Amino acid sequence: MGLLTFKGGIHPDDGKRFSKDQPIRRLLPEGELVYPLSQHIGAPANPLVKKGDRVLKGQMIAAASGYVSAPVHASVSGTVKGLEQRFSPSGTKTECIVIENDGSYEEIGYETVKPLSEMTRGEILDRIGESGIVGMGGAGFPTRVKLSPKEPEKIDHIIANCAECEPYITADYRRMLENTEELISGMRVVLSLFPNAKGIFAVEDNKKDCIEKLRSAVSDEPRMSVERLVAKYPQGAERQLIYAVTKRAVNSSMLPADVGCIVDNVETLINIHYAVAEGRPLTERVVTVSGDDIAAPGNFLVPLGISHEELIKAAGGFIVPPRKLISGGPMMGFAMVTADAPVTKTSSALLAFKEDAVAKAQETACINCARCVEVCPSRIIPSRLADLALRHDEDGFVAMNGLECVECGSCSYVCPAKRPLKQAIGSMRRTALANKRKK
Ligand code: SF4
Ligand code: SF4
Repeated sequence: MGLLTFKGGIHPDDGKRFSKDQPIRRLLPEGELVYPLSQHIGAPANPLVKKGDRVLKGQMIAAASGYVSAPVHASVSGTVKGLEQRFSPSGTKTECIVIENDGSYEEIGYETVKPLSEMTRGEILDRIGESGIVGMGGAGFPTRVKLSPKEPEKIDHIIANCAECEPYITADYRRMLENTEELISGMRVVLSLFPNAKGIFAVEDNKKDCIEKLRSAVSDEPRMSVERLVAKYPQGAERQLIYAVTKRAVNSSMLPADVGCIVDNVETLINIHYAVAEGRPLTERVVTVSGDDIAAPGNFLVPLGISHEELIKAAGGFIVPPRKLISGGPMMGFAMVTADAPVTKTSSALLAFKEDAVAKAQETACINCARCVEVCPSRIIPSRLADLALRHDEDGFVAMNGLECVECGSCSYVCPAKRPLKQAIGSMRRTALANKRKK
């Protein structure tokens, strides 16, 4: 089969050269660990510990507080300093459990796991839920809920999102090369929940070594295959990925399961393996530290809760005082107001840049060039939608399909007038979605 893709999209400098050849390095924290109670979509977790309690690595320190929620586990052993308001990577203050690391990494005794073939569907889902796994590509949706659609027999595609289309990030790339077996084992677990599904590893064609390695690893797996995607942004956005692989369209009022698909990213699938095949909860993840202002970019396996400041230090520090810090990728990540914020379940990268290209840009009037329309993967009209958003015309915005925006930022990237299209459309979209939920 040829290369799969969708209409629209852009080809920014991918910046992956900074860190792609750096093998994953384990990093142990020196300072305290900070665990936000809300690291996922849904209700915040309920704390199970109090100031002065001693905790072990792997111990649940906050429990899921509803169906759409997820527990949090300690990633080190130590003493609880308290429940405090701390900065999250997105720059808001949020309630967090703070643990003083005792440096011994004493771990709880995990239950012996049964072979996958002897586990029931309910047992597998419970293990994933109790392990605290959420969509680790950035969405943070609890994985147990995602893997529990109303009609599991109608799911025919499990798509491993191996696109990693965001510039600079190479965490999934290194995971695919260094943890291939764990990734395939995670897919095996998910396929065991959906008897009519096939498992597809969808990889951008600029990662030929991953394609080769995965193809060789799935050669004895009759239900799995590897598909090549055109390397362009936002190839890894869920709707665009589903369309590329299946030619099925998902809109803002649908779930991927409505078109027979479940999409999980690389880090999520690897952690499903650890949870179900090894009985270990989610306590660590791989984070890329990169950008033109990082002295020694790399990919680090870190305990959740470690400060971004420690990551910067481990990557050799800044070359000059940075003008821009981003948690996640440059297209869809958050500008950070402080590096004194913890790595959470959804932190895929920390990027530091010498210049802030967005702040430097001078906005001018629209010249009706239609470039934003050509690149929009949602096939909507960004220039018109941004006008409606600036006029606070919510009805007009919804009527012009503004809710279909996936906030990829492709329109802002190509706009010669430097209009902040994504910001205007994204902000109005979130308001309109909130109002829709209230009705
Ligand atoms: S309108 Fe939304 S989906 Fe379309 S290019 Fe802009 S940010 Fe992306
Ligand atoms: S790309 Fe910018 S200048 Fe061109 S039509 Fe869109 S908003 Fe206007």
